[in-house]
Amino acid sequence: MDRTVYLDNSATTAACKESVAAVNECLLNTWGNPSSLHTLGMFAENVLEDARKTVAEFIGAKPKEIYFTSCGTESNNTAILGTALRRKKRGNRIVTTAVEHPSVEETVKRLEKDGFEVIRLKTDKSGKTNEKDIFDAVDKNTVLVSIMLVNNESGAIMPVEAAARAIKQSGAPALLHCDAVQGFGKLPISVQKLGVDLLSASGHKIHAPKGVGFLYIKDGVSIDPLLTGGGQEKGMRSGTECVPLINGFAAAIKALPELKTQYKKQQDICNYARNVFQKSDIIKVNSSPDALPYIMNISVEGYRSETLLHFLESRNIYVSSGSACAKGKGSYVLNEMGLDRRRIDSALRLSFSRYNSKEDIDLLYGALCEAVNKLKRNNI
Ligand code: PLP
Repeated sequence: MDRTVYLDNSATTAACKESVAAVNECLLNTWGNPSSLHTLGMFAENVLEDARKTVAEFIGAKPKEIYFTSCGTESNNTAILGTALRRKKRGNRIVTTAVEHPSVEETVKRLEKDGFEVIRLKTDKSGKTNEKDIFDAVDKNTVLVSIMLVNNESGAIMPVEAAARAIKQSGAPALLHCDAVQGFGKLPISVQKLGVDLLSASGHKIHAPKGVGFLYIKDGVSIDPLLTGGGQEKGMRSGTECVPLINGFAAAIKALPELKTQYKKQQDICNYARNVFQKSDIIKVNSSPDALPYIMNISVEGYRSETLLHFLESRNIYVSSGSACAKGKGSYVLNEMGLDRRRIDSALRLSFSRYNSKEDIDLLYGALCEAVNKLKRNNI
């Protein structure tokens, strides 16, 4: 059987061995409820608090600012709905971008139905939101700015720090939320430097298991919880903490290679891919050269994304179809970037992890050339 080439790491990653070991260890030995008063509870609580320290240190936060959740989606929902519930008397404008993940877009849409005014900032050709547009949109009525760190389809790195400055300059009673799911573990993150009040991340994008994430809430900032009950996570997220997965998340963070060195290696693979794809007349790179090198959106013009995806799968190569979207509308992100329909319908998202190499690019390119020869060119 051919070697497996997994290039869909923005969808999810394989759990690393350190993370799996940490989950197992906890399931077998530290399975107590961290809220229990006896020693078994205490052992579990120690694991939980150690993990909180690991996460906090990684983003320059204090442990008490980290709230564990089940995933990035839950963190985003909590940040957005929790802010809106708490601040609705102070204003009703929410500023976000037109290219957020559905866990943000669908949540602000819900608030829009409830009477909030939602401003969705456009992007330029590179997929980035313009800093000036952020400054223009944030006014004294704004209670929340939600802007992602890295776009999950294009890899565009968003001007989060500019949003912090815009809030300060306008005197808006706004909190700044950042969906950092695709940047976490790839770009060094400092919550102070970004100037965020709230930041979401998810374990399964960095080789931890699925089912665990966290929300950073800056010390002194209050939002309403979504889940109420036993008051776990200081009342912000009731429900018994999943200590084994949280332990696995912390282990995955500890197992990450030094971020800057890894970034350079990934940049090198990305540059290599760009050069290889240039050999073909019909493979076009949609991601901007200054995008996060872990995500590269390409189009194989004339060939439908899904057809290519399944052809590649038959060669043991796994990618994501950039245009997978309800009702055959095509990717709203690529549409925002001004790409034409033909290019959008033939888009593929390649997303990398530390386990990928240049050899994977060669195998992908070979398989794409084979697809172009074998498959009928669709009329798109
Ligand atoms: N935000 C972004 C940018 C994402 O790419 C994703 C998942 O792909 C999420 C949020 C949701 O994360 P989760 O799958 O942990 O709910």
